[in-house]
Amino acid sequence: MTTPLVEMDGDEMTRVLWRWIKQILIEPYVDLKTEYYDLGLPERDKTDDNVTVESALATKRLGVAVKCATITPNAQRVEEYKLKRMWKSPNGTIRKILDGTVFRAPIIADGITPYVPGWKKPIVLARHAYGDIYNNVESKVGAGSSAYLVVCDGQGKELSRQLIHSFDGDGIVQGVHNTDASVASFARSCFSYALESGLPVMLGAKDTISKTYDHRFKDIFADVYAAEFAEKFNEAGLQYTYTLIDDAVARIMRGEGGVLWACKNYDGDVMSDMVATAYGSLGMMSSVLVAPDKKYEYEAAHGTVTRHYYKWQKGEETSTNPVATIWAWTGALAKRGELDDIPELTAFAKRLERATIATIEEGFMTGDLIPLFKKEGVTPHKCESREFLYKIAEKLQ
Ligand code: NAP
Ligand code: MG
Repeated sequence: MTTPLVEMDGDEMTRVLWRWIKQILIEPYVDLKTEYYDLGLPERDKTDDNVTVESALATKRLGVAVKCATITPNAQRVEEYKLKRMWKSPNGTIRKILDGTVFRAPIIADGITPYVPGWKKPIVLARHAYGDIYNNVESKVGAGSSAYLVVCDGQGKELSRQLIHSFDGDGIVQGVHNTDASVASFARSCFSYALESGLPVMLGAKDTISKTYDHRFKDIFADVYAAEFAEKFNEAGLQYTYTLIDDAVARIMRGEGGVLWACKNYDGDVMSDMVATAYGSLGMMSSVLVAPDKKYEYEAAHGTVTRHYYKWQKGEETSTNPVATIWAWTGALAKRGELDDIPELTAFAKRLERATIATIEEGFMTGDLIPLFKKEGVTPHKCESREFLYKIAEKLQ
């Protein structure tokens, strides 16, 4: 390798898998160079979360990052890790710095049948990675108070004031925002990615209820499409559809996949877990954040698999699925190879992916996949995580 990858280490079970994947599947084959950032919760707390910001800035500088899953602290975590503060979601912080779009695609192996039997092709889910409740301001409101939405100009002069609600009893209030520029760059990322992958695009939002906010997404997508993509989509025989989010969900459920589903931030957060689970396991969903200035951050779509980690801490072996985390590494290595013109590196990444799929197809897999696996003449064998990684390594050789 010439340019280092930005390596963002993480927490709990995925931190354990991280080390094994490197030791067993990467370092023996690749002259690996990384710039290491420890995004594990203790280090984030120690550095007042500066390490997260630094890792995002490094990604802006170097172009490609690979990230391990990390804990987003809540009250229970503050207690568990004796934190100075309830730090924000590292993914939120990184996305805010890089902007961009998260694309999630299921990793498909022969023998693993989706829970939704009609799904034959991958559904690529594009999550707008900026704004809405992820950068919100919210507070509790006492009885008798009123909350307003106030907009001021650059000099602080009030331009508009709308009553949100006058509270008879105690309640809650929240302010969210988005920017035209971010929505437009989201639209561009989706249309470009879809063209590259030969997929139609569907956007769902709730413009009938949210006549200004959600409607803005619909309008900006329509404008970007008409001005920059309609012709190319026509030539490629692809379509762009806008529909209400409820209808989008219905279409996804009864369709056969093979579509890029553009989702607002929250819809993408929730629906990606639904889609991942329906394709088999959260452990089989890959994820990449693509920034508008072509910076890439690869990760697994799942979290730190806390329940397995608590077992592992007690000395038990676990059968945690490492596939999505392997895909984070192969995605990053392949992209680095492509950008630095090192075809051997890209070829290695593809070989590692094929070896992983072949291992599963021959019947060796982690426990999450066992109940899903059905293949003539193959009896599935449940592996502990490390045993599974060694099986892949055997295939790789
Ligand atoms: P999770 O870590 O994704 O795990 C939820 C459950 O899904 C697990 O208990 C497990 O089910 C199953 N699962 C997920 N990944 C798996 C894998 N690789 N192999 C086998 N089973 C897998 O979600 P969570 O428990 O809600 O969150 C745990 C922590 O992760 C939280 O602190 C959260 O903040 C963080 N998180 C981080 C990210 C990120 O960094 N991108 C994303 C989401 C959550 P069983 O227990 O039934 O086996
Ligand atoms: Mg989610």
